[in-house]
Amino acid sequence: MKFKIIKDEDLLRKKCTSAVDLEAAISLGEGMLAYLDEHASGVGLAANQVGVDHRVCVIKVGDPIILVNPRIVNQFKKISFQEGCLSFPGDTVVTERYANIQVIADNYSEPLYFSEENILETVCVQHEIDHLDGILMHDRKIDLDKGDKSSYDNGIF
Ligand SMILES: [Zn+2]
Repeated sequence: MKFKIIKDEDLLRKKCTSAVDLEAAISLGEGMLAYLDEHASGVGLAANQVGVDHRVCVIKVGDPIILVNPRIVNQFKKISFQEGCLSFPGDTVVTERYANIQVIADNYSEPLYFSEENILETVCVQHEIDHLDGILMHDRKIDLDKGDKSSYDNGIF
């Protein structure tokens, strides 16, 4: 699969449609992970960032994860995080995110739990699911003075 990172904000703001073919969605996710490995400096990617209108995203902070039709069903403990995005090279914003989330996805039979023990991964999952909903990191931007500076970390998704 040949991919190119979409940088057009209007396209990125379109909400993705659900993936119906699970096998095709996994194979798309595998292609996206390979693309991340070879071409991109980020640790996560959403399908609409490479021009595919499906609710599929990948995360590669530790073990590679593919999420098909993911949904956050639980979240707690707000934190501030400085993040970047492969679609907006060089741009970073401080956002408000959750340190702990529980996610369900069609390719997992059990809910997945992402915790503050791996904050980069946990924020990455939120960033990617936002992409699938047409939400960009800029929409989560917070006033620097209001954030808890001690909790900043950063990543490019
Ligand atoms: Zn992004």
